[in-house]
Amino acid sequence: MANHLHSDDLPAGLDLGPVVAIDTETMGLRLGRDRLCVVQFSAGDGDAHVVRIPSGQRAAPRLEALLANREVLKLFHFGRFDIAVLQNRFGVDIAPVYCTKIASKLARTYTQRHGLRDLVKEIVGIELSKEQQSSDWGRDVLTAEQLDYAAADVLHLHNLRAALDEILEREGRTQLAEACFRFLPELVRLDAAGWHDLDIFAH
Ligand code: MN
Repeated sequence: MANHLHSDDLPAGLDLGPVVAIDTETMGLRLGRDRLCVVQFSAGDGDAHVVRIPSGQRAAPRLEALLANREVLKLFHFGRFDIAVLQNRFGVDIAPVYCTKIASKLARTYTQRHGLRDLVKEIVGIELSKEQQSSDWGRDVLTAEQLDYAAADVLHLHNLRAALDEILEREGRTQLAEACFRFLPELVRLDAAGWHDLDIFAH
């Protein structure tokens, strides 16, 4: 297992396969104000590819092609945020997608704990650190601790998906989950269009 750090874009010729785990790190949680700083990828093979996105950079053609590739399933944890950030920055439509947080809410109805760290602890048996969560992701040179932290956020998503899919199947909720995943990019569009604080399905 290795963590690979890249600048500006994914390296040429890298094939991450048909299911790619993706996470982002930003300057903060407010879209439009807080820029995208880092995008992490994993093919589920124990390797993580961490791409630093410099301030002001406009295009990252290989990264954008992967996001837009309809043959590649993009795995997120709380994709509602990551998809919005990536869509906002690169202007690409991101689909198809899978979100381990949505899957967990549909599958693990015995708990309210659907955070990434809760899932990784229960399903993979590993304690992920929270320490670098609120660090300066915009810096020119990422620290070794930041690199490890960023990588850890994508290394387990394939395992989480496999475990959650088993429960969804067992409980007869696979189609419901798939419907939610299909709608997620549309929800991100609704958020961006101004309905982020409104449940449009509510009475
Ligand atoms: Mn993260």
